[in-house]
Amino acid sequence: MFSYRGKIMNIIEEPSRKTPVLAETDVLIVGGGPAGLSASIAAAREGVNTILIERYGCFGGVITQAMIGTIAWYRYAKTVDAGGIGLEFETLAKSMNGSINIFGNVKNKDMVKTLEEEGLIVNGEPTYEVLDTEMFKHIADKLVQDANITPLLHCSAVDAIIENQTIKGIITESKSGRQAILAKRVIDATGDADIAFHSGVPFRQSPKNELMGVTVNWGCSGINIGKFLMYVYLNPGSIGDWGETTGKEENSFSTYLVEPFNKAKEAGEIPKDVNIESYWTNYTDAGEITSFNGIHMKDIDPTNVWDLTQAEIEGRKRVLWAVNALKKYTPGFKKARLRTIGSSLGTRESRKIIGEYEITEHDIRNEARFDNSIGICPEFIDGYGIAVMPTTGRYFQVPYGIIVPQKIENLLVAGRCVAGDKISHAATRQICCCMVTGQGAGVAAAISIKDNVSCRDVNITKVQEALKAQDVRIE
Ligand SMILES: Cc1cc2nc3c(=O)[nH]c(=O)nc-3n(C[C@H](O)[C@H](O)[C@H](O)COP(=O)(O)OP(=O)(O)OC[C@H]3O[C@@H](n4cnc5c(N)ncnc54)[C@H](O)[C@@H]3O)c2cc1C
Repeated sequence: MFSYRGKIMNIIEEPSRKTPVLAETDVLIVGGGPAGLSASIAAAREGVNTILIERYGCFGGVITQAMIGTIAWYRYAKTVDAGGIGLEFETLAKSMNGSINIFGNVKNKDMVKTLEEEGLIVNGEPTYEVLDTEMFKHIADKLVQDANITPLLHCSAVDAIIENQTIKGIITESKSGRQAILAKRVIDATGDADIAFHSGVPFRQSPKNELMGVTVNWGCSGINIGKFLMYVYLNPGSIGDWGETTGKEENSFSTYLVEPFNKAKEAGEIPKDVNIESYWTNYTDAGEITSFNGIHMKDIDPTNVWDLTQAEIEGRKRVLWAVNALKKYTPGFKKARLRTIGSSLGTRESRKIIGEYEITEHDIRNEARFDNSIGICPEFIDGYGIAVMPTTGRYFQVPYGIIVPQKIENLLVAGRCVAGDKISHAATRQICCCMVTGQGAGVAAAISIKDNVSCRDVNITKVQEALKAQDVRIE
């Protein structure tokens, strides 16, 4: 009668039903994270009708739900950037007082010198600012409205409408009931490849004990920032602390923090086998650090509702352990309070489609070039114990084939579920790359409608010209 931890105990047969059509559109984007936002803005800019649906109450995906504002933390002095909508997010956020300049506020001259030597401050300016993830909820609304996209929040996609191996739309569930949205093209930006899965697209998903961990993030207020920064200055973290580097970034500064949690473990306040090691991403003049990325839980299947429930509840328990450890063992945290917990846990990896092309670790590490490039990404690998930062200007091109699923026509996939091998995922999951695949998908979907060809057969030269006109770097 029910499914328990993935095992189907029994099944029932639902009666067939007539489903009302909620809307019809040219391009439908499912999922309003970085990839879905980019895809919908890009499609709308090509002049086609665009609907963007999102299951939660705000757009932004992991940015707003899991409080990840570090969309550009990979950027060093020599990093070659992708351009496009990713950069527009940063520029707009800055102009709306919606980002936080952490390195620009560092007063300690030695620390400034170190950051300059590492290429994180250039001509007195930091190479990146951190998005204020609460403000980004509003900024994402503005991006959607300014682009003339039709938004639908609180609307989950639960099935795909397929005829003759071609997607015709999706089935949604919301407070309005079970309804259909019909579309000439659909872009799956759900992170978990939900639409591709429901369409019967071949995909792969590693066993859950091999997947990257899920994370519940939190924020604190009431911190004496000056005291904390002095502690960081005396106990700096490095990129080498959290992964195998190429050597050049081994000693580069990182906001890695583990000492307080280890002390709490030694004192028996946190179980020894619990993984808590945190990156704090920013601080504000109001005495806050708005995001600690530190509770990492393995053996969770992000497509299994039992596992998701367990991880949310366990994650919040561990957040309290972490906050207590910070208060007790970290200078500046004596009066700190837990301020926020992400409204959803953050998922790093689940389903990946099998695409027309599977990007590989070799491609990422060897500056791959493709005739059907839809953008570039800096050589930035973060995951599976590998940490490669794009400090040298090296980059790879992103081929169109990784967003084109096998078998089903007029469906494109963008974001972390694009096609590729295991290690390549540690690059393509990065927000900067998700926005490249999103923008590429949006433009390709729009052009395929205008030219009346399937997404698979779209004229890639036209897509590239349109992307360049949208300020995307292709070569
Ligand atoms: C804890 C954590 C820290 C990270 N730190 C960084 C970092 O510092 N820098 C970096 O570049 N990357 C980071 N990443 C990776 C990056 O955040 C993600 O890979 C990226 O956000 C993926 O973008 P996306 O648009 O593909 O998916 P998501 O951001 O997951 O967005 C998917 C959206 O689709 C919606 N959705 C899902 N299913 C449905 C459905 N069926 N119907 C309707 N809507 C649906 C979701 O609610 C969500 O809004 C981090 C990831 C995690 C989890």
